Amino acid sequence: MSEENNTTPATEVPPKVIERRVIEKRGAGLFRQFLLFLAGLLIGANGVYYWMQREAARVASTQSAPAATLPAPNATPAQSPSSTEPPARIIVDPHGSEPPMGALAAPAPAAPTARPGTLVIPVQGTQATQLIDTFTQARGDNRVHDAIDIMAPHGTPVIAAADGKVAKLFESKAGGITLYQYDPGERFVYYYAHLQGYAPGVVEGKTIKQGEVIGFVGSTGNANPDGPHLHFAVGALTAEKKWWDYTAINPYPLLTGR
Ligand SMILES: [Zn+2]
Repeated sequence: MSEENNTTPATEVPPKVIERRVIEKRGAGLFRQFLLFLAGLLIGANGVYYWMQREAARVASTQSAPAATLPAPNATPAQSPSSTEPPARIIVDPHGSEPPMGALAAPAPAAPTARPGTLVIPVQGTQATQLIDTFTQARGDNRVHDAIDIMAPHGTPVIAAADGKVAKLFESKAGGITLYQYDPGERFVYYYAHLQGYAPGVVEGKTIKQGEVIGFVGSTGNANPDGPHLHFAVGALTAEKKWWDYTAINPYPLLTGR
């Protein structure tokens, strides 16, 4: 029986006990391996669960994708400002019947303190004395002009009011053929509208110098064909520097030095 174990002196460990200890040790090792295996299983299960979740999400998203591509008649115009019409605030533009969706939705921002430097009158041959300040003139319902109109015959060269670069060439219903220019510090935008066309070589990103011909006076957009003119606006850009997002600054004092 087990008598041998009990009676054996501690100093001398009989072979059977050694064998048992070895077995115990081996058992412990096996137990550890089992634990590791269990841990592995749990981690693995987690992984599988994670993978399944992801897969489910992926399946869900691919299933809902076709719905997203279905024509959503009201959603399209809001998406990209560069696609068709510039967002609201731009169509600060002209004179027309076209409501500038949201042009006045935002509360009137405080007059910006920063101003661009001296500007040249952006229509060749026009003198300061010929200019009329129409910045605050009403344009349609609840709308002000936020710009100046410089009357000139069709085809009269339009020149850059200041140094800078061409930020955007854009065609809109109200503004017609338009050009947005940034100043060199990209804090201000200059907007030229109703152009007959651009000067040769004028492309987005082009660096332009003050006085350089960038386009020609026209009556595109909602301008009266009998009254061709340049609609010229100056704006302070926001920190995001979006060509269509600016606070209008009255160009009249900048052009006349008054
Ligand atoms: Zn105008």
